[in-house]
Amino acid sequence: MVAVRFRCGHGAAAGDGTVTISRGCPMCMLVDEMQRSRSELLRRVAPAQRARLSVETRIGAEYDWRCERGHDRYTATVREALTSPGCPKCRRNAAGPSAAREAGLAYMNHGLRTRTSATEQRLRVLLGERIRLHHRVNAVRIARTFYGRQEVWPDILVPQLRIAVEYDDPGRSRRAHSGLKAASDLEKDEALREVGWDVIRIRTAGLEAISPTSIVCRALTVEVVDEVVAIMRRLRGDAAVDALAVTGPARAAASS
Ligand SMILES: [Zn+2]
Ligand SMILES: [Zn+2]
Repeated sequence: MVAVRFRCGHGAAAGDGTVTISRGCPMCMLVDEMQRSRSELLRRVAPAQRARLSVETRIGAEYDWRCERGHDRYTATVREALTSPGCPKCRRNAAGPSAAREAGLAYMNHGLRTRTSATEQRLRVLLGERIRLHHRVNAVRIARTFYGRQEVWPDILVPQLRIAVEYDDPGRSRRAHSGLKAASDLEKDEALREVGWDVIRIRTAGLEAISPTSIVCRALTVEVVDEVVAIMRRLRGDAAVDALAVTGPARAAASS
């Protein structure tokens, strides 16, 4: 059997007869796709299995996990641990009536690896000059599963308005927001709409509008951010947006 080594460094040790594959191992690829981290999984796995998991490449491999909500340990594959509430008690809770009550709730998921680009940070700053942003939330509970999770992670959340703002450019995380990825963006928007949220998408650098609340532009500018606030006013009314305004309604009047 040929020993295989992946680009991420996992797999067989480099040496004679080792074939190096020019992509990450299946586990690293799924971790990346789910926007999670291996270190987060290492915190959750049973301590005795940490060393094994740290070099694991297979998503079908089984491990013992500790429930983050304090339930009993459970056995699940890496894939299940990454894509579903692997804990049987949590899974039952996710299907129960309290899950419906939580739909639309915004909260902080501390396990979420945030990959914020410089432009997203600039968007946050510019928007933060106009409306008060809640910095302690990064996830919204949804009523269906999206990539195996009952939550989505928009770029910016304004829970008081139930509006999410997404910044899409073709280069982000190497995946263009077009084709299949646009379909996934739309599914994410739909999941948010189901729980009472609206999504404003800033689509730059040649990306087309994919919703009535898409803003198509060449780059992120002050005018684009003003347009975001204008759409918020259209969706939720002046009173709701004024209640969050940093500089008051005068600014909005000046920019409209
Ligand atoms: Zn790997
Ligand atoms: Zn649990």
